[in-house]
Amino acid sequence: MSRYDLSRDEIGELLADLPRYRADQLWDGLYHQLADPEELTTLPVSLRERLGALPELAPALSPSLRTIADDGDTVKWLYALEGGQQIETVLMHHPRHSTVCVSSQAGCAMDCSFCATGQAGFSRHLTTGEILEQVVLAAREARLSGRRLNHVVFMGMGEPLANLKRVWPSVQAIVGDLGLAARHVTLSTVGVVPGIDRLAAEPLQVNLAVSLHAANDALRDRLVPLNRRYPLAKLMEACGRYLEATHRRISFEWALIDEVNDRAADARELAALALPLGAHVNLIPLNPTPGYPVLGTPPGRVREFRERLGELGVNATVRRTRGREIEAACGQLAGSRPVTLSARAN
Ligand code: SAH
Repeated sequence: MSRYDLSRDEIGELLADLPRYRADQLWDGLYHQLADPEELTTLPVSLRERLGALPELAPALSPSLRTIADDGDTVKWLYALEGGQQIETVLMHHPRHSTVCVSSQAGCAMDCSFCATGQAGFSRHLTTGEILEQVVLAAREARLSGRRLNHVVFMGMGEPLANLKRVWPSVQAIVGDLGLAARHVTLSTVGVVPGIDRLAAEPLQVNLAVSLHAANDALRDRLVPLNRRYPLAKLMEACGRYLEATHRRISFEWALIDEVNDRAADARELAALALPLGAHVNLIPLNPTPGYPVLGTPPGRVREFRERLGELGVNATVRRTRGREIEAACGQLAGSRPVTLSARAN
């Protein structure tokens, strides 16, 4: 449990013997000043000491490693959770905005072959507060370096739509309490159809990214095992329902794997799925992971694949890789210290 698992009422109950405004000050400290209770100079020292000793207000994430790349523009934290599991969070500064990539589970049960998190297996769901605390700590770090955190992507460890019960309240708090725009929050899924339907029914207009990687069932069954449960036809129907309900553009994530899903036929199949939905395609050259000795598509052919999609009328961008040398890039989060890679970085 995290201090960010407490509701406003529960904070009030913790300070029930004090005037109501003390609870408001504590709330303001946690959600607006992004501070530890002990740091709140608006409170008398004796109260700060009392709050500092309350187990309910202790932080849930203990940083065990913080690494920096891209000249300080990428920061990755390895956090230990209560229970000993480890998760990772990545903060990325761009010229005009800053994005945090948060984990929603310790490990992941989806077992995608090319993803380091999948290779490590599932440990447990994160609580709402553990997710929120990652955002708060990143927002605090951004603020200290003169930036403002304004985007949250659920693209760290775990499958957010397999933990929607806890993920969704964290999204509501990111928007309602931390004040970020819903349209700056992105949930990424391997294709959990019931989760997509639940999102379609929510009034908050967050973004949906679908990690597609293959546009035929034979290949997708191999790359993304959940496809056996929700094959492409079902997944595309769910995307259609989502689009109809929200009118928000969906994005498809496509990790380009050398000679696996980067051929002309793959571009044509992908276009056939993306065009009817007006989906945007994000191309990610495969990042190396220890358990998948296959290479990413070389840069020249990445460009070619994007151009081919463009000729077919599909809007596609190549995502710039961030933090690869500190294993903070897409699919490299494994909740452990860096390991030796068996695949060559290209
Ligand atoms: N489970 C969700 C949330 C994680 S998002 C999902 O998969 O969508 C992490 C993104 O990185 C996904 O798009 C995933 O497919 C992609 N990815 C995983 N392994 C990768 C790798 N080795 N190289 C590049 N992208 C990868």
